[in-house]
Amino acid sequence: MSSTARLVLLGPPGAGKGTQAARLAEQLGVPAISTGDIFRANIKGGTELGRKVQEYTSRGALVPDEVTNEMVRDRLAQPDAAQGFLLDGYPRNVAQVAELERILEETGRTLDAALEITADADVVVERLLKRAQIEGREDDTESVIRHRLDVYAEQTAPISDVYAERDLLVQVDGIGAVDEVTERLLAALASHVG
Ligand code: ADP
Repeated sequence: MSSTARLVLLGPPGAGKGTQAARLAEQLGVPAISTGDIFRANIKGGTELGRKVQEYTSRGALVPDEVTNEMVRDRLAQPDAAQGFLLDGYPRNVAQVAELERILEETGRTLDAALEITADADVVVERLLKRAQIEGREDDTESVIRHRLDVYAEQTAPISDVYAERDLLVQVDGIGAVDEVTERLLAALASHVG
C-alpha cells in the first residue's frame, strides 16, 4: 500500500459505508471523515453548525454546499489528515467533486481513488429500515429514507461517472459479510493504487 491514501468512499445510503470506512481507515492508518457523523455530532451538541444543518438532515435533503464545503476544508486542514484521509459522505454532488479538487489543490494534494460500494436499491431500503428500528436515527423514517435515496440517485450517483472518466473509480460489490466486503475493498485498492 502507498504511504499516503487520499480516498473518497461512495455508495448509496445503507451500502455499509460507515462500517467499511472505519475498518479501511484503521487498516490504512488514515482518519475516516464522515460528514454525516460530523453533522450528527453538532446537532447533538447543540452547536451553531448543528442548528444550521438540522432542518436539512432531518428531511433527508442535502445541506447547502457552502456549509458542507467549508466544514470539509477545515477538517482536511487538520494535522491528522496530512498523511491521508478517507472521506465518507463527501463529495455528494458534482459541485462538491469540483470543490474537493480545489481544496486539495490549494495544499498540493490529489485524490488517489474513489472507492464505490455498490448495492441494489431493494437491499439498501431493507437495511436502512432495519437500522432505523435498532438505532432510531431521526432521519431514518421510511419517507425520509426514500427521499435520501432519491437525492442519492439524482445528485450523488452521477459522480461515479466523473471519477470513472478520471480513472479514479474503483467499484466493489457491497453484498456479503462485513469482513468479506472489507477484503474486497482492500484488494481492489491495492491493485488500483499499486
Ligand atoms: P446516509 O446514511 O443517508 O448516507 P449520512 O450519514 O452520510 O447519510 O448523512 C446524513 C445527512 O447529512 C444527509 O442526509 C445530508 O442531509 C447531510 N450530509 C452529509 N454529507 C453531506 C454532503 N456532502 N453534502 C450535503 N449534505 C450532506
